[in-house]
Amino acid sequence: MNLTESWQQALAFDAEHIWHPYTSMVNPAPVLPVVAAEGVMLELADGTTLVDGMSSWWAAIHGYNNPILNQALIGQSEKMSHVMFGGLTHQAAIDLCRKLVGLSCENLQHVFLADSGSVAVEVAIKMAIQFWHNQGQPEKSTLLTVRNGYHGDTFGAMSVCDPENGMHSLFNGILAKQIFAAAPDCADEQSIGDFEHKIRANHKQLAAVILEPIVQGAGGMRFYCPDYLARVRELCDQYDVLLILDEIATGFGRTGTLFAYEQADIQPDILTLGKSLTGGMMTLAATLTSTKVAHGISANGGVLMHGPTFMGNPLACAVANASIELLLKSDWQQSVQRIETQLKQGLEACKALSVVKEVRVKGAIGVVELHQPIDVRWSQARFTERGVWLRPFGNLVYVMPPFIIKNSKLKKITDAIYQVLTASV
Ligand code: PMP
Repeated sequence: MNLTESWQQALAFDAEHIWHPYTSMVNPAPVLPVVAAEGVMLELADGTTLVDGMSSWWAAIHGYNNPILNQALIGQSEKMSHVMFGGLTHQAAIDLCRKLVGLSCENLQHVFLADSGSVAVEVAIKMAIQFWHNQGQPEKSTLLTVRNGYHGDTFGAMSVCDPENGMHSLFNGILAKQIFAAAPDCADEQSIGDFEHKIRANHKQLAAVILEPIVQGAGGMRFYCPDYLARVRELCDQYDVLLILDEIATGFGRTGTLFAYEQADIQPDILTLGKSLTGGMMTLAATLTSTKVAHGISANGGVLMHGPTFMGNPLACAVANASIELLLKSDWQQSVQRIETQLKQGLEACKALSVVKEVRVKGAIGVVELHQPIDVRWSQARFTERGVWLRPFGNLVYVMPPFIIKNSKLKKITDAIYQVLTASV
């Protein structure tokens, strides 16, 4: 990279002083300096442009620098950037919560605005535990989940991440002990069998089941069928256990329906949303729940014990309102379907490569699973040379582009994946 001296110094400072996600401070992985982002393109400090295949980790569904989202931010900032949510409220939050209640299933009527996905998951877990506590059943405080899940990096969320590829061994003895069923696998009857067995055996101590519907994200980029989810709902009803669905990654159209749970025709008791809630522009998340749960928590003077400083931040709410309106006005279903078709075609050739174990596509998500982990530093450099921004992890090369991506740009990404994997053989 041909960088100015000032950028070289800035990167040296970055490497020495700034933590990036999941990195060492002694041997940090290289980071690319981005100076602008527009549409589906990221511009680096040396003038290089990269097609974005990541949507900034599922979030930037409308791409970058969208004038409508920008205007929402500017407009709100001129009225009020922030006020505490304790004892005060504002139009941006009311509009947003009205939208979320209207868009989600009928069961979900009450909204808690959180400041990140992990916090929304913490709140969901608290809701479930407080609900049973207030019903006089405090022993119902454990969670049942499935392997290969990912729900965030805070302690409650970590406790329900996959025990092997999550951080359980690192925080052994500190994380709450939860119950894990086999990863959902619709081709294997035993996976739902194991879930059935675990819920039957443990329901007296279970507050809730938590899982990512239809698509498991950072815990393995796995897809499973709606039937599994429908059966989970039945079992939760049968054994009187709440169902928390984490749609922080899947929400707002990524899997082809506005929310992934719609594909199983079920309703959760608690739902978490985040990431693309603001079109990836601001940090904001939400935990929605039913009147049964909300009123159960609130009975006999009960209160939900959570209240972050930046709860309901007006800037983030205003951008979320604009993002949802923009999405609903657009032909997003068609865009997601077009991306799905093109990902299937574009990644087909990868199936023939000896390093590739499986290629799978669902909605606007494409995954190439390899037999062995890929060298992230090496592959990131190869993708960058080809004008593409992708960040594989473990043995997964995956792409989830902004919905606005054009076919030619998406082809550039899938071609790069094929070429880089061919070079890695
Ligand atoms: N749940 C799921 C399903 C996620 O994909 C993520 C983020 N990757 C989270 C929770 C945590 O969200 P955040 O990173 O905003 O804390």
